[in-house]
Amino acid sequence: MTVAVEKLRGSSWIAGVASSSGGASFHGYNPVDGSRLEPAYASASPAEVDSAVAVAEEAAGFLAASSGKDRAKLLRAIADGIDAAAEALIVRANLETALPRPRLTGEVGRTSNQLRLFAGVIEEGSWVNARIDTADPARMPPKPDVRSMLRPLGPVVVFGASNFPLAFSVAGGDTASALAAGNPVIVKAHPAHPGTSELVAQIIVEAVKANGFPAGTFALLFDAGHEVGAKLVQHPAVRAVGFTGSFRGGRALMDLAAKREVPIPVYAEMGSTNPVFILPGALKTKSEALAVGLHQSFTLGGGQFCTKPGMVFVEDQHAADFTAKLRGSVAESPSFSLLTEGIARVYGEGIEERGKLATVTGTKSDEGFAAQGTLLEVGADAFLADKHLSEEVFGPTTLLVHCDSTEQMMRAARELEGHLTATVLGTDEDLAAHGELLRVLETKVGRVIFNAFPTGVEVNHAMVHGGPYPATSDGRSTSVGSLAIFRFARPVAYQGLPQFALPMELRDENPLGLHRLWNGSFEK
Ligand code: NAP
Repeated sequence: MTVAVEKLRGSSWIAGVASSSGGASFHGYNPVDGSRLEPAYASASPAEVDSAVAVAEEAAGFLAASSGKDRAKLLRAIADGIDAAAEALIVRANLETALPRPRLTGEVGRTSNQLRLFAGVIEEGSWVNARIDTADPARMPPKPDVRSMLRPLGPVVVFGASNFPLAFSVAGGDTASALAAGNPVIVKAHPAHPGTSELVAQIIVEAVKANGFPAGTFALLFDAGHEVGAKLVQHPAVRAVGFTGSFRGGRALMDLAAKREVPIPVYAEMGSTNPVFILPGALKTKSEALAVGLHQSFTLGGGQFCTKPGMVFVEDQHAADFTAKLRGSVAESPSFSLLTEGIARVYGEGIEERGKLATVTGTKSDEGFAAQGTLLEVGADAFLADKHLSEEVFGPTTLLVHCDSTEQMMRAARELEGHLTATVLGTDEDLAAHGELLRVLETKVGRVIFNAFPTGVEVNHAMVHGGPYPATSDGRSTSVGSLAIFRFARPVAYQGLPQFALPMELRDENPLGLHRLWNGSFEK
């Protein structure tokens, strides 16, 4: 499959074909100079939304009945298509986001590897959590035969984020996990990278066709505003939503879903400030390396990472060298192109607002969607008095909170809201002396990190990229790693069914060779 920028149609993709009813139009923009990119994209009409959901609903039965091995082939075909089109994807994504080529090259690999990770999980098959309790007619009352496993939900709507045009977008983690679990997917493209979205959609459409899946398996819809997204979330045939983006957007979709006649789950992965605690032993022994590492981490990708370390707690009496070095790094920080005009504007407003309460190091920038690295500093009393200071500012800034004692640092930890990550930087002795800090942090976040910065998120089987509200809508799940598949499936029990009528996964002879719970003991 070859994709090329010349093939961009500026239209939605429904039932395997380009579709455009000429709704309200919008363009992508080059963040470097603010110039408008072609082609124009048209919002899907209400009829197109209905048609995308109707064909997805038709495809749902086929997907639910498909084998894990067949869906794995589909995921691998999409992954291969993405790898083969890497150059076109990188060029277009670079134009639409200003994210540098090395970062986008890494993101292509991450996106295809993520699809292959899910392919491996469903090929093996034990993820369905098959549980079998056999009958005992002699027991009084007689014990029935009950068998259960996870089954797909039906059409899933996915909203991608602006800051990961590939890995959290059209063929990103939510699409991969929803398809892997056996659900059709309808993606509402992020308007900041419409061309990249369309190229990826073309790859998925081809793979769906080539692997014999129904055309309703995948659709891509564009939206100049929020109407298409809202209509999708409210559509009675949609069964679940995966969202990656801002708190405001995620909360709006959660509220819409809750108000439906039949509410549905919204797995919203939202903003996070990712607290970092630097303990005295580390400040004494490696303050310079920590300051350099922290600066790199919170300015990486222009600070546009949901895992950016956005607030840092230090005990003041040990932090003089660290603070001086950090201020120096920030003062020399280069300028960054942010993803959209809106993100650049909100960043500027956020810094100005916090500047009223905190000391600011860094200068302002006015070119394109540019922003300067900024350090904000505040005392712990002022921090604890104003809840807004702990909210995310998306962009290259962090808030250094000066604590006057371990007790004050612990108080700040106890008052944290939900975040994706919490980081502790220290020596083993520090860690032993601050055991209570770890116990508090594990109640606040999805991932606790020791002696590394939180920005990188490994895609594997153990990863948890989630956390309590408001970091996500549901802290019991993750949007990264193979555990994410469980968001788009639900358990179904089958009682008293004869062998031939049971899914393969639940038949006595275990034809798929799965790990199963048989009368309370794990077997293969
Ligand atoms: P965003 O503005 O919330 O956009 C996400 C998507 O939702 C876009 O398609 C957006 O369309 C749509 N949307 C927003 N509000 C909506 C509403 N009220 N109704 C219907 N649709 C709505 O987020 P973003 O700017 O792309 O991404 C930045 C944010 O994402 C940051 O806060 C970052 O921390 C977070 N993020 C989180 C993760 C994670 O894994 N937790 C990963 C990456 C990013 P419009 O653009 O047209 O508004």
